[in-house]
Amino acid sequence: MQNKFHSFVRLTALLIFICIITAFLFSAFFISLEAEHDCDGEHCDTCEQIAVCAETLKKLQNIFFVFIFYSFLCMAISLYTVLSIYCSNRKAVTLVRLKVRMNN
Ligand SMILES: [Zn+2]
Repeated sequence: MQNKFHSFVRLTALLIFICIITAFLFSAFFISLEAEHDCDGEHCDTCEQIAVCAETLKKLQNIFFVFIFYSFLCMAISLYTVLSIYCSNRKAVTLVRLKVRMNN
């Protein structure tokens, strides 16, 4: 049961990731394709669609930067923790190391 739920969560995450990448790629492709269209003027449908795509790209870019920031933050905290453990000269304080007898 747990394994099925875990695979369902993985599949859902993969589908969301594919949707985000598809939206990003198609928005960029549409903007590059229609950048030099024959503009009708003030109420051009293509210009409105380009504005929507540009807004989508802007939002995805912000999400991407937040994801990158938190990834680097987690890596920095992990690296700091590992280095502080590795470089510390303190030995673990245990009852055996302190030679405390527990058989009284
Ligand atoms: Zn236009």
